[in-house]
Amino acid sequence: MGLVAAATTARGMAATVRVLGRGELGRYSAGGVSEVARLERELQDVIGVRHALAVNSGTSALVAALVGAGVGPGDEVLVPAYTWVSTAAAPLAVGAVPVLVDVDASLTMDPVDLARKITPQSRAVIPVHMQNLVCDMDPIMTAAAANGLTVIEDACQAIGLRYKGRRVGSIGHAGCFSFNQYKNIRSGEGGALLTDDDRLFHRAAMYHDVGSYTRPGFATDDADLIVGVNLRMPELSAAVLRPQLATLDAQLLRRRRHRRIMLETLPSWPGAPRPVPHHDPVSAAGLAVTFDGPDGDADAIAFADRRGVHRLADTGRHVYTNWRSIRTRNPLHPRADPYRDAVRDVDHGPDACPATLDVLARTCVVDLAPELPTPVVRLLAARNRAATPRPAPRPSVAAR
Ligand SMILES: *Cc1c(COP(=O)(O)O)cnc(C)c1O
Repeated sequence: MGLVAAATTARGMAATVRVLGRGELGRYSAGGVSEVARLERELQDVIGVRHALAVNSGTSALVAALVGAGVGPGDEVLVPAYTWVSTAAAPLAVGAVPVLVDVDASLTMDPVDLARKITPQSRAVIPVHMQNLVCDMDPIMTAAAANGLTVIEDACQAIGLRYKGRRVGSIGHAGCFSFNQYKNIRSGEGGALLTDDDRLFHRAAMYHDVGSYTRPGFATDDADLIVGVNLRMPELSAAVLRPQLATLDAQLLRRRRHRRIMLETLPSWPGAPRPVPHHDPVSAAGLAVTFDGPDGDADAIAFADRRGVHRLADTGRHVYTNWRSIRTRNPLHPRADPYRDAVRDVDHGPDACPATLDVLARTCVVDLAPELPTPVVRLLAARNRAATPRPAPRPSVAAR
């Protein structure tokens, strides 16, 4: 862990001890001093929305947002073909069917393919801001408005990033964050749902708290009540997250600085990659590179040999062709089968999104390691120049 991360952790540890000392580990027993409630207020301020609901994962945030928006059986939800599998699983959890949309060279939802995939059954679209890259929200919002779709931004991998001045997660009707171990800020597990929509928020809040009817303001009369499950965030998670949220912008600055260092050496990287286009270059804090040459796939495979570099085609359940649990279509129960309620068949097969597979095969993501000191990142950038020669294997004792 780097210096910034260590300092954050120290404050997180102090906050954790404070919570343990109080002994109130659940948000609603902690009352007025709830860490979760404070985290929600801070998220509202930082992201710029009226409501924030902390939950126990990013997946939970997506499901709660769909429940909040009233999405269900018979509905289609448009999702990108490159995203963590949760984005496609969430619609199924509420009885709706996911429809795959290609990503373009920016690794985010292609607005042209989105327009092509909208049908009369489409109810919502979940654009995903992958790898701290941001979607082109303007055309997505325009297409959604023209077709009456709810837009739920999946900003699980991009909390803090901006699109044309606004933080991602505040542009659509709802935004979802994850705080799992791999995200910009993390508590092992955790998530949040952000929205300016009162009804969506109240429904999601009831759903996340077993259909709560005793909390002030959730439901004004019986007609508004719904049942739910328990997706509540523990106090300890919020205590760990709050100091990290306070230093999020500093972390993004480090990511940006490391991005610039990488870009300086990029012209000398083997295979002549180019950075993937970014929809808000000023605030870019993620880096992926595409190899356009005739052997782009092979160039990407070779380049992925380096520390902190991964070829996107090889990132498991981020690629729709690896979503076996989606493709099998086994329902949770024979009579609760989203595909029985669908008016048409949708294609989840390996050939559904060829443009996505093409770009993922030729593209590598480069970790910008905000936790590493800048000189180390300079070193890593320099090592990207040429293939690092492997040391020749030493002859074994027996062979000598
Ligand atoms: C991490 C992630 C999720 C789900 O988050 P969990 O907290 O692991 O449930 C959803 N979508 C994307 C794009 C993610 O990266």
